[in-house]
Amino acid sequence: MHLPRSGALAPSSRSGPLRISVLGATGSIGTSTLDLIGREPDRFDVVALTAQSNTAALAEAAVRVGAAVAVIGDETAYGELAERLAGTGVAAAAGPDAIVEAAARPADLVVSAIVGAAGLAPSLAALGAAEAVALANKETLVSAGTLFMTEAVRRGVRVLPVDSEHNAIFQVLDAENIREVAEIILTASGGPFRTLSLAEMAGVTPERALKHPNWSMGRKISIDSATLMNKGLELIEAHHLFPVRPDQLSVVVHPQSAVHGLVRYTDGSLLAELGSADMRTPIAHCLAWPERRPAPVAPLDLVALGTLTFEAPDRARFPCLALAEAALAEGRGAPCVLNAANEIAVEAFLDGRIRFLDIAAVVADTLSRARGAGMMAEPASLVDAESLDASGRRLAAAEVARRMQ
Ligand code: NDP
Ligand code: MG
Repeated sequence: MHLPRSGALAPSSRSGPLRISVLGATGSIGTSTLDLIGREPDRFDVVALTAQSNTAALAEAAVRVGAAVAVIGDETAYGELAERLAGTGVAAAAGPDAIVEAAARPADLVVSAIVGAAGLAPSLAALGAAEAVALANKETLVSAGTLFMTEAVRRGVRVLPVDSEHNAIFQVLDAENIREVAEIILTASGGPFRTLSLAEMAGVTPERALKHPNWSMGRKISIDSATLMNKGLELIEAHHLFPVRPDQLSVVVHPQSAVHGLVRYTDGSLLAELGSADMRTPIAHCLAWPERRPAPVAPLDLVALGTLTFEAPDRARFPCLALAEAALAEGRGAPCVLNAANEIAVEAFLDGRIRFLDIAAVVADTLSRARGAGMMAEPASLVDAESLDASGRRLAAAEVARRMQ
């Protein structure tokens, strides 16, 4: 667990623009980050941008913000990237190792916004040469949270939470009085299927599941929001970011997505952060921290909103939340296997190979098999975490195949 420290990015400790790298620059979080950077170009010196296969968007963004290097994960795309960047002054590189090298380039801030456990190695590498890491890639904390946070503390690197709920909590958590924190509450929109019965959810299509009512996000996290796995992953994420016990973390469904996170103190005060459902607010908070800067976000209109409602999550209709809570309580390797199985199941659902309710079933059966195989040791190194992740994926792929027969 990481106790907030102060001052790492204080403007007084820096001279000149903020040296920044964005991993996953072509995604939903990545493009929102680059939108903010592009509005204040003099404040930033862009070191590296990375993507997986979207060469055109990567090259365009790298030229626009004047990045020193652009890296594409897909090695076969190197030629195309190099061609697009010829004569622009932006260096091109390709392959997973090149992404890790880019992440390890000296920077004041690395924004880690790759999706999935593929973000783990680059996020860990960022701890090697960055002053701070703005972490959107929650799967890093789910797969290897103890490893990542221990390394961050050891190296004195500040971890700034980008995820809206965790950023909200970061803003209202009184770290000086942490013993007087009674509870940390994450809000969940409930996703597109909040009011559907299990029978109705059985037949939903990927297109329908991808239509989130409040947030515009990448495909994987949109499905995680529809199953409520996202909130389960966020409980595990919160456990690593904030120094409270797992039983002090809870989830409340709040369909308006205006309140993003709350901290209840022992004196009865409940402090919350509210804002529009626009990720540029938490990202701007990380880019400016410990100051604040204006962000191009519509102010939350309380009168237009009128009513805020809250309800308990229904774990019978959303078993992924219960599975993640159990993995958090079990600890050790369980969250890593949970995450690996979920990534395989979500991909299979998006490809039309399994049905929506199979996602939870694949994750549950993978966890049972991993437990039976004695696979649940805490990952103590990147190699351990990647090997456990790979084993979890193999078991989950077998579960997917079994359901397709
Ligand atoms: P997207 O799918 O929109 O973007 C993912 C980014 O990662 C893209 O740049 C993609 O490149 C790159 N990428 C994909 N696979 C790999 C890989 N194997 N290796 C290296 N890079 C890869 O995701 P989001 O922006 O929605 O989410 C990013 C992270 O932030 C996730 O962990 C998510 O949970 C978290 N998050 C997102 C929020 C949101 O509002 N979107 C909110 C809170 C957290 P390419 O485009 O070339 O495929
Ligand atoms: Mg979130």
